[in-house]
Amino acid sequence: MSVGLVVVSHSAQVAEGVVELASQMAPSVRLVAAGGDGSGGVGTSFDLISTALDEADTGDGVAILYDLGSALLTTEMALEMADPDVAERRVIVEAPVVEGAIAAAVAAEGGGGLSAVVAAAREAGGDAGADGGGAGAVGAAGGDAGAVGGGAGAGGADADGSERGAAAGPAATTRTVEIVNPLGLHARPAAELARLVSSSAVPVTVSVEGKSPVDLRSVMSVVRLGTRAGDQVTLEASGDGAEAVLDQVAEAVRAGFGEAGIDAPSGVGGTGGTNDKASPGDAERSLVAGATAGAPTRIDLSATTAGTPASPGLAVGPAHRLGDLPDDLPAPSRVGEPAEERERLSDAVDVAAAELDGGDDLAQAHAAILRDPSLLDAAVADLSDGAAQSWWREVRRLADDLAASDDEVVAARAIDVREAGARVLRHLGVEVSRIDESVSGAVVLADEVGPAEVTELVEQGAVGVALGGGSPTAHAVVVARGLGLPMVIRFPRVDDVDEGAQVVLDGADGTVAIDPPADDVRRARERAEAQDRRTAELREQAVEPVDFQGRSVLVAANVGSVADARAAVANGADGVGLLRTELLVLDRETYPDEDTQRDDLTEILDVLGDRPVVVRVLDAGGDKPVRTLDVTPEHNGFLGIRGLRYLLAHPELLHTQLRAIARASVGHRVSVMAPMVTTVEEAQAFREAVEAAVASLVSDGVEHAAPEAVGIMVEVPAAALTVEEFADVVDFVSVGSNDLAAYLSAADRTEPDLAPLLDPDSSAMKRVLDALTEQAASRGIPVAVCGEMAGDPGLAMSLLARGVWEVSMAPARIPAVKDAIRRYGR
Ligand code: PEP
Ligand code: MG
Repeated sequence: MSVGLVVVSHSAQVAEGVVELASQMAPSVRLVAAGGDGSGGVGTSFDLISTALDEADTGDGVAILYDLGSALLTTEMALEMADPDVAERRVIVEAPVVEGAIAAAVAAEGGGGLSAVVAAAREAGGDAGADGGGAGAVGAAGGDAGAVGGGAGAGGADADGSERGAAAGPAATTRTVEIVNPLGLHARPAAELARLVSSSAVPVTVSVEGKSPVDLRSVMSVVRLGTRAGDQVTLEASGDGAEAVLDQVAEAVRAGFGEAGIDAPSGVGGTGGTNDKASPGDAERSLVAGATAGAPTRIDLSATTAGTPASPGLAVGPAHRLGDLPDDLPAPSRVGEPAEERERLSDAVDVAAAELDGGDDLAQAHAAILRDPSLLDAAVADLSDGAAQSWWREVRRLADDLAASDDEVVAARAIDVREAGARVLRHLGVEVSRIDESVSGAVVLADEVGPAEVTELVEQGAVGVALGGGSPTAHAVVVARGLGLPMVIRFPRVDDVDEGAQVVLDGADGTVAIDPPADDVRRARERAEAQDRRTAELREQAVEPVDFQGRSVLVAANVGSVADARAAVANGADGVGLLRTELLVLDRETYPDEDTQRDDLTEILDVLGDRPVVVRVLDAGGDKPVRTLDVTPEHNGFLGIRGLRYLLAHPELLHTQLRAIARASVGHRVSVMAPMVTTVEEAQAFREAVEAAVASLVSDGVEHAAPEAVGIMVEVPAAALTVEEFADVVDFVSVGSNDLAAYLSAADRTEPDLAPLLDPDSSAMKRVLDALTEQAASRGIPVAVCGEMAGDPGLAMSLLARGVWEVSMAPARIPAVKDAIRRYGR
């Protein structure tokens, strides 16, 4: 085993690139990248870093390189939260990330212990050598005498003989050798030489005409010599064993590192050997092949198929493709006369088809299927076992016929027929589900799942989900995050995975490994179990409230269903900062009436007991299409009539919902909040709507409780920059950082390619948050934050430091955030 290495960067690509480079020189070292915010964006992720640290840790320690300051903060937090015995052997190294990682990797590959690896990384610093001090020291024998470590470019290389360190003493032995490989001592050969000499106590330097000698253990310094085939290099060492080590090194240089017959890639200078068969790119490829040949297996999820990260967490289990709807229905409790059953069936078909009429192309195709008279005719021909049974029998028959077609396009319609048919069943009072206990312990694969299905999957014990489709902000994803179910979306191989194949799914970096080596599965399982244990520990502590710098703050949950509410309680939520009511209408066949809305809310509020809850009124439009309303992409898109704008244009909807909320609030502590507010006038109109709804309940003599407070979401930059102007009309504001970041950058939040523009820690967001919180403080407006950023421990702390009083997040995030506040918020 060797010391491991973790590279933390704000960019996933940077971290992976550094790891790729370093691993070419250290094939048996565990090198793990922890780049990006875990959801495809720029930033750092506590979860990613913690996981990477566990993965890199063989027990011999881990050296951690990082790029920018806030990466340090997140890394420190990850260390703080690890078991102290474990954290002790994980060291953050101040060093340039590329040079440091390479030097550390080489030192680890050479069998160096943690302190040697850390020292190698530190010494690799270009600038670190500029003071002529410790950096680049030749080694034990030379002490601090030899600042030959390269410095910035040739900075350390123009020194005179006195800088040449112990290796250049009077008793020095030298060898002069000609470089034969076209690219000279580039990274891989340099690493090979460094490995060769690192096990020996004898320091060796290498020099080329016109440049000062550099320590052969310093890979980057050797690379900076810029040697090419035909160059003569001088190797120098002194003391016992010098002859032997120089012979070895000289031999390695002469042998050409297996590259002697390869052309240099185009654009690279060099006079060395040519090979007609080799193409310019071959040299690069051979470097990789040479470096990785014989490397031991390790968890290398980057070699697996990448999808898009959706919900963090590691899942290990057999693959289970979510099947079709079931073939058989439960026997009906009562079968009416044929005429009665016929009417029930025909009504159900009409209602189901009408619901689908205004929908997208797929919905309209489903409506057309339902209206196909041959289907209904066949079903009503035999109603002896009731409308539902006969309907489903004919639906299956049609679907099976289609599925048997040789024409793929026709066969693919079978699933549509079943789905459309199932809609009719619901109107006949029969619920069908494709999820049962067979998902228990499995990583589930499907094209798409609905939000309600995610809840079912969790309840049935699925450990992870990979979807062929999906979008990072789809409600199914939001629900998965809330419930802590690891999920990868846009996974391209969803149809290629054999049932029962072992799957390792990493929801944080969006990778799915199918049937990886048994060793990798075992290690991934250990990691997943360690994560589960840690989560359980943190959950236990999370029931306690927390203070931030002596002020009590709320760590609340974002919920949208009863399952979320249960998860909120289980994870120690102090309250609910955002109850998304869209989820209560999205899966419905008809828009719910007041009583239904009240009942749905009551069910959720009863789970939450006396915790304070902020209910957000319907946020239709944008990324939240509500197919039972006339919400269209043309009129109700991100910049259209969405959120409160839609409700003010449909006052009856708002009135009904506000009445339902007030009726459900009896015995609970409920506030209301409007989404997507732009102007003070809109906020004022919302307050008036709340007052009117309460007044109507009073005059109707209906039992209710008026909202404790009336607030708005701040998601539109115009509102964020004028918060103080809302002081007289709102009791609080809650920052929706998801939409705020999207509107600030003019970037569609559902477009994965634009994820880097949605960084909640961008300087634009910081400035807006600073302005917003300052203005709010000046007018005494309490500020909460309920966008995703609130669930990142580091960002949550930065929000609390700005005076925010409540951070609200996916329930599964609460334990880690509370833990961070407890530790760092003193
Ligand atoms: C937000 O925009 O940050 C927010 C919390 O609302 P939603 O994600 O539901 O749009
Ligand atoms: Mg929003």
